[in-house]
Amino acid sequence: MSELKPCEIPCPKCGSADVSRSFWAKGQHRQAIEYDKQTMGKYAGVSCWNAHANKDHIVHHCRCCQYEWQTLPMVVKRVKEEV
Ligand SMILES: [Zn+2]
Repeated sequence: MSELKPCEIPCPKCGSADVSRSFWAKGQHRQAIEYDKQTMGKYAGVSCWNAHANKDHIVHHCRCCQYEWQTLPMVVKRVKEEV
């Protein structure tokens, strides 16, 4: 048995494997789910109807129970390349 990759984690709420995932890049804007509420997860900020990502992250959405959660992208190798 191999370990589960972050992209293979089933829904933590209902256990369904039917989860859609979308990458949300830092600084990218989306429409907020709720007005002025922090419902977009720990890596995003919401102001009025505008949500923006504070960090590159992946949004997981369970198609079964509509639960949504966020994880950071998997970093395979951290290369220090700051200019
Ligand atoms: Zn679920």
